[in-house]
Order: sequence, then structure tokens, then C-alpha cells
Amino acid sequence: MEKGKLIILSGPSGVGKGTVRAVLMKDESLKLFYSVSMTTRQPRPGEVDGREYYFVTPEEFQRNIDNGNLLEWAEFVGNRYGTPKDKVEQMREQGKNVLLEIEVNGTLSVLSKCHDALSIFLIPPSLEALENRIRSRRTEPEDIVQQRLNKARIEMGMQDRYDHVVVNDDVERAAAEIAKIIREN
Ligand code: 5GP
Repeated sequence: MEKGKLIILSGPSGVGKGTVRAVLMKDESLKLFYSVSMTTRQPRPGEVDGREYYFVTPEEFQRNIDNGNLLEWAEFVGNRYGTPKDKVEQMREQGKNVLLEIEVNGTLSVLSKCHDALSIFLIPPSLEALENRIRSRRTEPEDIVQQRLNKARIEMGMQDRYDHVVVNDDVERAAAEIAKIIREN
């Protein structure tokens, strides 16, 4: 059996990676496996442990780093996020295309280790659109919103490090473009 691909879906916070991913996951022909990350962030209302993330304490996260359990990890606006390593390899060996939804520093770290990874950067039609999205989520206090927006501006400047850049002007259209990229690469 052919080994599955390693696909990185990245883009600034609030761009709609989760929504696009949900559309992609419904397409069984893509044989996607979503890699659930570990984070020290508190769950948002509706988030379930083991589904959106594995929610862990800072101590637990540090133990996972020390034990070499993470393929990559990064700090993002005061919290840590990382990709559990074992599952990624296991699933690829089973022919699944593993999808990582991670920020830019984690991406650079994966790209330096896995030269066969396919990287895709999702961008908003404009920074105003992004700000509206982050605000409409209404889950974060103003200072965190500001930090996420600043981070978004920095991340937007790193899009040329990716193999493909896709504009999230319409969820279905963006997902279709990404599906095509996955099939053709
Ligand atoms: P959020 O708090 O909005 O869920 O995630 C914040 C940022 O961390 C997003 O850009 C998200 O894609 C990224 N992220 C989620 N999981 C991981 C991970 O395992 N590693 C890295 N490097 N970034 C992650």
C-alpha cells in the first residue's frame, strides 16, 4: 500500500481553517485522517477533549516534549500547541493522508524534518474580513483578540513559505481547491 501524505493546513487564526477542514473531512475519497493536537489552552464552549484538542496541563505538555512525543510544537498567544507524533506515522503507514492544522512556526519545523510534506496556506479575502471573524467568535477578551490580530499580520507575511496559497472567499470553493491540490500532489 502506498504511504499516505502529510498535509499541513495553515493560516492566520480566524481565517476559517476549521470550517474548510470540516468540508474536506466529509469527502471520503480524500482518505483524510485529522491529527488532533495537544494544547494547554482552555477549551472553548462546545469543544470536546480528544475531538478538537487533547487539553492538557502545562506540566503534561512539558512531559510530552521531554519524552519526544511531539512531531512539532509551538507557542501561540500564551499557550502551547503540539502534534502527537506516533499517530501521524501510524496513519500514514495505513495509507491515510494525515491532515495537520497548525500555525506557521510549527509548519516551518515540520517542513525542516519532513521534506515530503504538502503545505497549504489559507488566507482571508482581506484583513478586515479576518478581524470580523475573530470578533464574531466572541469567545476571547479584547487583549487576546488584539494579540491574535497582530499574530495574523505576521503570519500573513509568511505565506511564500508554503507550496500553495488558497483564498478563503467561500468555504465550499476553497475546500474544492484544496481537494484538487491534495489529489494532484
Ligand atoms: P486556536 O487556539 O485558535 O484553536 O489555535 C491557535 C493556533 O494554533 C491556530 O493557528 C491553530 O492552527 C494552531 N495549532 C493548533 N494545533 C497546533 C499544533 O499542534 N501545532 C502548532 N504548531 N499549531 C497548532
